[in-house]
Amino acid sequence: MIAKTEAIVLRSMKYGETSRILTLYTRDFGRMSVIVKGARAAKSKFGMALDVMSHSAVVMYVKEQRELQLLTQADLIEQYRGIVEHPERLMYGFALLEFLSATVHGEEAHEELYEVLVSSLAALDAAEARPANILLHYLLRLIHALGLAIDARHCTRCRADLSHEQALRGHASFSERQGGFTCSDCLPAADAKRVAIETVGALRWLDTHAVAQSATLALSPRAASEALQLLQQHLREHLPEMRQVKSLSMLDLFS
Ligand SMILES: [Zn+2]
Repeated sequence: MIAKTEAIVLRSMKYGETSRILTLYTRDFGRMSVIVKGARAAKSKFGMALDVMSHSAVVMYVKEQRELQLLTQADLIEQYRGIVEHPERLMYGFALLEFLSATVHGEEAHEELYEVLVSSLAALDAAEARPANILLHYLLRLIHALGLAIDARHCTRCRADLSHEQALRGHASFSERQGGFTCSDCLPAADAKRVAIETVGALRWLDTHAVAQSATLALSPRAASEALQLLQQHLREHLPEMRQVKSLSMLDLFS
């Protein structure tokens, strides 16, 4: 069957003399591995459409039960030059792709995950500052799309609105077992961990704003780092087989 779809290139590997094997995240088929014959030939027709992070329209020859599909055509839709030409943003771009690779395995379409990835890459492409906020926003959306959402708006015990000033009165705690935060009037769960109020506020803010706005939130490196650790831990708790996301160690978020 000939299949046309759109994809983001997650990984690319040389294969044989002139070919490449790519991992794609496609709009209509989810994650896929494809072989591209002649991709590395001197006059390849593919241009930058097969580069990692590129957003491309692709045509494939798909056979069910075959692990590696054959890609025959790829046309660049968006290269995200604002990401690939800025080393700092590029590291965050790799982190977005790696989180998707680490958490999504099966070959099935998940349009929400696809849209979240594409809109986050577009926001990162345009982000003049605070790329860390885009990664945090992306992780909140990824967690939501996987059905593992964290409620950063209400106390998990009494449902108090955490945006009210007295609800956190100097401290907040997060319980993985309860899947959320508790206010200062409620007893924290046995597994609760102290979390800075700034971190809870940032997660709540990001959760209620579009990704394109996320770079306008001023966030201390400490809160950004705490939020990232919390979201990552939450993913790992629910997806024990999740791989280590190596590109995180390259981010200067922790400085
Ligand atoms: Zn409460």
